[in-house]
Amino acid sequence: MIRLEHVTKTFLTKNGNVHAVKDVSLEIQDGEIFGIIGFSGAGKSTLVRCINLLEKPESGAVIFEGRDLLKLSDKELRAQRQQMGMIFQHFNLMRSRTIYENIAFPLRHMRLKEDEIEKRVMSLLELIELKDRKDSYPSQLSGGQKQRVAIARALASRPKVLLCDEATSALDPHTTQQILQLIKRINKELNLTVILITHEMAVVKDICDRVAVMENGKVVEEGNIVDVFSHP
Ligand code: ADP
Ligand code: ADP
Repeated sequence: MIRLEHVTKTFLTKNGNVHAVKDVSLEIQDGEIFGIIGFSGAGKSTLVRCINLLEKPESGAVIFEGRDLLKLSDKELRAQRQQMGMIFQHFNLMRSRTIYENIAFPLRHMRLKEDEIEKRVMSLLELIELKDRKDSYPSQLSGGQKQRVAIARALASRPKVLLCDEATSALDPHTTQQILQLIKRINKELNLTVILITHEMAVVKDICDRVAVMENGKVVEEGNIVDVFSHP
């Protein structure tokens, strides 16, 4: 379970303070697909980046597996980060490296042995059905294929949580469906907790178990999909 308690994040800019996340408290259960929906600028991305501490909240607590991530040492934090994979709207693959090497990248960081790296990468290539493209470069793949590679890279360290930041926003409707179905499949098969940011209602309705609606840095509504989106 992930628990956010009164998380607040303010950016200090030359035009003043931006209150990106204001006093947000949330609970995300193990194994669920949790959606965060809201307009651009609502604070969704900042909130999710506070979960893996790509952003450090100035107050509040981020509890993961019973520990407040804000209180960990750098070394403990690095270990915890491997428990969370992340994918992005624009894939963020390394263009000068092959598909195989993109997926292997986090494993080389973890200093795994070469045969263990190969075993993991090949099984991930099988999962995303791109074995035959392992020596291609990202520029040779379609958007959907690139996102599948990004998913494989995110899963390489065998995380318990997958954070998805507008992961289907750059894709056409058909490819969006394929990626959502893949996310759903790995959620079930790997018992992976998924936190999914989107501005698209359809995406949330398709695969999320529960959802939080964000507006101006705050969670204004939260609950089961049917409760949040059914008319009174
Ligand atoms: P969303 O993901 O819902 O579009 P964001 O979390 O990206 O929203 O942004 C929330 C607010 O915080 C916006 O006003 C945005 O401009 C601001 N913001 C986000 N990141 C930064 C940053 N690194 N520096 C300054 N302001 C930022
Ligand atoms: P290379 O070092 O192989 O030439 P680039 O520096 O050109 O790769 O990076 C290409 C893209 O990959 C950029 O959008 C960059 O932000 C992203 N990127 C680089 N390193 C990482 C990483 N460790 N995880 C995720 N994305 C990364």
